[in-house]
Amino acid sequence: PTKIVDELGIALANLADAATGSFTPTLRLGVTGLSRAGKTIFITALVHNLLTGGRLPGFTPLTEGRFIGARLAEYPEATIPRFAYEQHLEALTAKTPYWPESTRRISQLRIVLKYQSAKWFSGMSGPSTLNLDIVDYPGEWLLDLPLLGLSFAEWSAEALERANRPGSGREAQPFLQLLEGIDPLKPANDGDAEKLALAFTDYLRRSREHGALSTLPPGRFLLPGDLEGSPALTFAPLPAQGHSMRSTSLYAMLEHRYEAYKDQVVRPFFRDHFARLDRQIVLVDTLRALNAGPAAVADLETALTSVLACFRQGETNVLLRPFVRKIDRILFAATKADHVHHTSHDRLESILNRLVANATKRARFAGAETKSLAIAAIRATHEGSIKEGGETLPTIIGTPMKGESLDGITYDGKTEIALFPGDLPARPDSLFEDGAPVSLNFLRFVPPQKLDRNAEGDLVLPHVRFDRALDFLIGDRLA
Ligand code: GDP
Repeated sequence: PTKIVDELGIALANLADAATGSFTPTLRLGVTGLSRAGKTIFITALVHNLLTGGRLPGFTPLTEGRFIGARLAEYPEATIPRFAYEQHLEALTAKTPYWPESTRRISQLRIVLKYQSAKWFSGMSGPSTLNLDIVDYPGEWLLDLPLLGLSFAEWSAEALERANRPGSGREAQPFLQLLEGIDPLKPANDGDAEKLALAFTDYLRRSREHGALSTLPPGRFLLPGDLEGSPALTFAPLPAQGHSMRSTSLYAMLEHRYEAYKDQVVRPFFRDHFARLDRQIVLVDTLRALNAGPAAVADLETALTSVLACFRQGETNVLLRPFVRKIDRILFAATKADHVHHTSHDRLESILNRLVANATKRARFAGAETKSLAIAAIRATHEGSIKEGGETLPTIIGTPMKGESLDGITYDGKTEIALFPGDLPARPDSLFEDGAPVSLNFLRFVPPQKLDRNAEGDLVLPHVRFDRALDFLIGDRLA
């Protein structure tokens, strides 16, 4: 029955969209990626570039002279937080520019685009308008989809099995120990529920800090959004109980909360937000994983496969059926491409293609067109070359952030350096092979400290292949 309600809800929402958009078509663009993949920077750059007509030679509507302009507009749904564009731009364009705070919850922004259509009959009707609705949400939330198909007992069994694996030892120990001392059949009480939830969250957090890029669900435990501390997030996996139990037991209480999490948090997210997207960009911090070695690469692939499962259609995804989707284009973007020389960008794209290959192989993306690109929404480096032993090495030049260190040198955040970032392998498969880890010199750089201005006096954000991303995501809708 819930499924029918979901379908009805989505149908009504889409109808409402159609009704409010009867004069102006709307394109809903989802921007996602795991924590720190680059969502905030991407959206800030996207909006700024559209508002100021940035330097975007690969964005067809602009180069064809048909892009007229853009303005921010009130978002139609007043209860969803607005993407803090102005605040983020302020950080990036401050006297001493700094990177703004990252995405921690869902947020949205509407930008109205005005353009001259290239269609022959449009000359008569004047400029056209498109509402671009940008929906920013943590990729971690997509990891929750499988929960919809799992009972509390099933999820608990999986989660506890993972916590007990030899590799998880150190991180899971405090939680497992606490669990041992608590009898799930004792009377329900908030104290124990809170202690367990806290220890379980701590374990998830620590495994992430210690290199696991992928996370285990529940996704909100790592990025709670506005739900921090609420009962829907105050549960943890418990060992199965053989005998029948009272409805007043701790076990029953946590089971109830798990179900509430599914019904009141996970399902509404998929129904109210995810199912209504038209296009999606998935940002992937590929370089960070490459730098951390084969285990991290394999882990990123696993995480991506679960994230991307949400975009797949077909028999593999019964869980998604109620959320009829209409996504027709998905862009995979390897972010922070300014950390490597441009001669490596094509290789970076092949590597990303390889990372999403498994996810794309098993089931088709519901007829959606996909593409992989290496981009930097904001380029923090420029390029040069150094001569070493008769060889010319391509370098990148930038200012490492304060506290970053490499080869025993710790940087102060003010010194510009030239760096040979290393070569990306020509054969992406080699990344998964133990013997040959890629060694990259990967440092975080401060954002560009001096920005050019265009003829109108607007600041111009430098980028890498960002125009191509934009063209794939919205270019055809401005045709
Ligand atoms: P998210 O919102 O959590 O997905 O991530 P952010 O957009 O906040 O990005 C996290 C960090 O990655 C930023 O603080 C920057 O240090 C870095 N970053 C993101 N995008 C770029 C980029 O285009 N170039 C460079 N050099 N760094 C970036």
